[in-house]
Amino acid sequence: MKSSFLQKQISRREMLRYSTTLAGSALLTTFFPAGLPRVSAAGYAQQAPSAADLLADMRARFNAAPLETQRLGEGVTMLSGPGGCVVVLNGPDGKFVVDTFVAPAWPRLEKALDGLGNAPVKFVIDTHWHFDHTDNNAPLRAAGATVLAHENTKKRMSAPHDLPVLYRGPNGQLAGLHFDPSPVQALPQQTFAAGYKLEANGETLALEHVAAAHTDTDIYVHFEKANVIQMGDLFFNGMYPYIDPSTGGKIIGVIAAADKILSLADKDTKIVAGHGPLGDKGDLAKFRDMLVTTRDRVEKLKSAGKSAQEAVAEKPFADLDETWGKGIINGDQFVQVVYLTI
Ligand SMILES: [Zn+2]
Repeated sequence: MKSSFLQKQISRREMLRYSTTLAGSALLTTFFPAGLPRVSAAGYAQQAPSAADLLADMRARFNAAPLETQRLGEGVTMLSGPGGCVVVLNGPDGKFVVDTFVAPAWPRLEKALDGLGNAPVKFVIDTHWHFDHTDNNAPLRAAGATVLAHENTKKRMSAPHDLPVLYRGPNGQLAGLHFDPSPVQALPQQTFAAGYKLEANGETLALEHVAAAHTDTDIYVHFEKANVIQMGDLFFNGMYPYIDPSTGGKIIGVIAAADKILSLADKDTKIVAGHGPLGDKGDLAKFRDMLVTTRDRVEKLKSAGKSAQEAVAEKPFADLDETWGKGIINGDQFVQVVYLTI
């Protein structure tokens, strides 16, 4: 795999500067975490991990989570763990699977789906284009499913991307992640622009696109009868979210999406996050308020002329990190993510 990573060692200060440079180039830091393939020998410079190594490490970290099963309603089951939350509608009309975990989780996903019943997987729905949601499109397509997504998901999966600030090494060093275009057999076969409705197994699934938010490909899926709303990565429950500046992500859009779902949900609505435990309106409202606070603070620093690395150095989320900074993205990463997506 061709790597666009800068093959040199850089200081933390330089790294922060690089990390604010989008311009299509991924980042490199000086870390060599245990478990990553590397070339090194005493007295020789170490070779940096390749883009493929970093992505493999990220997939392995997601895959380390146990797969847990939770019933959400009549025929509706949440599978959570290796790469976020998958929801399955199962019944005589077949299985409808929303999101697909990371590639190394495929044997466990297949087994969990088989465990729900004998009906074939009819449809796979991608909430957005990211790898931890679409990685198993290909084996599910091969098993006969039709993959359905927003038209931008297909467009984004068909092109290379570099996502800044997403990877954190074991010593806290940050890097971007590079993605090559997905193979044709992993792409959605069916796409839509604004919304789509599916009726099956006595349930109605309303799929709705939102304006650019986590990416420009996001949809949420409303299981209307079961009163379940699956938000994909429009919601990270109890942790800072990643927002993807490389494919149109805007923090204002994530706030707007949260407001939209808060207006749709009632006190009994089960809200499925892209990452984190099953949530409800209260959890989503807290997440929304945190986004508004962090957006306001970074906006102030940015409009005062601070660079991204200067904004990070100010530690503007110091009082929030204890609550929100222990998930996929820590406080320093989230300052940069907000800076890049305001
Ligand atoms: Zn995502």
